[in-house]
Amino acid sequence: MTASELTRGGKLNVNPPEDVDLVTLGQRLRHQRRVKGLTLDQLSAAVGRAPSQLSLIENGKREPKLSVLQAIAGALGVPMQDLLRPEAPSRRAGLEIELAHFQREPAYQALGLPMVRGGRRLPADALESLIGLHAELTRLLTEQSATPELARRANQQLRIEMRERDNYFDYIELAAAKVLESVRHTTGPLSQRGILDIAAHLGFSLHYVSDLPGSARSVTDLRNHKIYLPQVASGKGHDPRAVVLQTLGHFVLGHHDPADYGDFLRQRVEVNYFAAALLMPEKFATDFLRDAKADRALAIDDFRDAFGVSYETAAHRFTNLATHHFGIPVHFARVHESGTVYKAYENDDVRFPTDVTGAIEGQPVCRKWASRTVFAADDPYSSFYQFTDTGKGTYWCTVHVESTRSGEFSVTVGTPYQHARWFRGGDTTRRTVSTCPDPTCCRRPPAELVERWGGQAWPSARVHSHLLAALPPGTFPGVDAQDVYEFLQRRAQDRPSQAPS
Ligand SMILES: [Zn+2]
Repeated sequence: MTASELTRGGKLNVNPPEDVDLVTLGQRLRHQRRVKGLTLDQLSAAVGRAPSQLSLIENGKREPKLSVLQAIAGALGVPMQDLLRPEAPSRRAGLEIELAHFQREPAYQALGLPMVRGGRRLPADALESLIGLHAELTRLLTEQSATPELARRANQQLRIEMRERDNYFDYIELAAAKVLESVRHTTGPLSQRGILDIAAHLGFSLHYVSDLPGSARSVTDLRNHKIYLPQVASGKGHDPRAVVLQTLGHFVLGHHDPADYGDFLRQRVEVNYFAAALLMPEKFATDFLRDAKADRALAIDDFRDAFGVSYETAAHRFTNLATHHFGIPVHFARVHESGTVYKAYENDDVRFPTDVTGAIEGQPVCRKWASRTVFAADDPYSSFYQFTDTGKGTYWCTVHVESTRSGEFSVTVGTPYQHARWFRGGDTTRRTVSTCPDPTCCRRPPAELVERWGGQAWPSARVHSHLLAALPPGTFPGVDAQDVYEFLQRRAQDRPSQAPS
């Protein structure tokens, strides 16, 4: 690592995996200071900084500017590279670093327990014991986590790749553009006729049947190049146009039988992308969005209406194009009315809830986030906008609620505060504050509800999905305690108590 790699805006700025760990840097700094027999005050005086500032750096809570780091290295008489080395300066310091990392995990923060300082006053056996307990807790939680290991890793890997590409897949855009060109599609949305043309061009015929296996969206006869599709009425369920295009996508993108779950997942993401890229061709979609942005009236509803697709397809397609073409970082989430995340994507640093393994699926979203407050809105089906202050900054979100056979889902598209001005609803006055994973934010029912209803409630869970996450202790399995208490509270207020007095 060279000094030039470190500077951007005078701050440490290196890319993972050689990212500087601030806790380790602080420990190395403190170690060198003690070796040189300097107090915090003495070193502060030598580099012309407040002792409180150096203390924050030594505790790994502040990223030092390069100039400050250079001054410290100079005052200690060590090369700056030495301070930046990734190993702990001693075994004891290594344990303290490990403790600090464990305590920064959302899973620990959600417990609401005090942060223990690993300083000299903490006895060595207490430190070893704490680390042992943390390690065991992590192991147990990992074992219990809702998503199987294989699926989790595949999901995470894919999410990282999507994030790195800003969810824009150039090779699929190209493949889709070629297909459109081959059927001479030159304007706007793709019609049903266009889809038949594409299928014919690729050598396939479509057959709508009533006896398709219930678990299949489509079945393709590879020998005779026939695609069998269900005779679905309009309404709920998958857009039949998308199902055809997804099936054709497998052939256009040259997919073979998936080798493993990761492969399967990637193919599914690719064909979904391909179908959306045909239904909402890049050129026309970006023209449309450019005009809307110029009017400061970007709106997922309009985007949906202009191309005749589902809201979710429009929201997804927006995340493909927003960052690549317009420099707008975004997040997307599909959240069940129970508060559970089903799908999520972000490249705007919003912090989705994760379990101890880093998985997002099946995790409960903060009650203050737009994905959940929308369900309590007067009219959840009309346009809903909200600013949310979080530990990672303020985000603006637009949310749409849709009703499905498995309940209501909110579909959210969000962006950091400064980009809200390009959107319709960017001037909303609705605003909430979220401090999750701090348990006082929304993870614990309010004390007065617990006082009144604790021990007096007996809900029966409606287990609705394999995504059901391992719930924290002290709640009812499968049911959120706060929801239960609030429900009982509402009922109690609805009518006067009928209990005999
Ligand atoms: Zn919260």
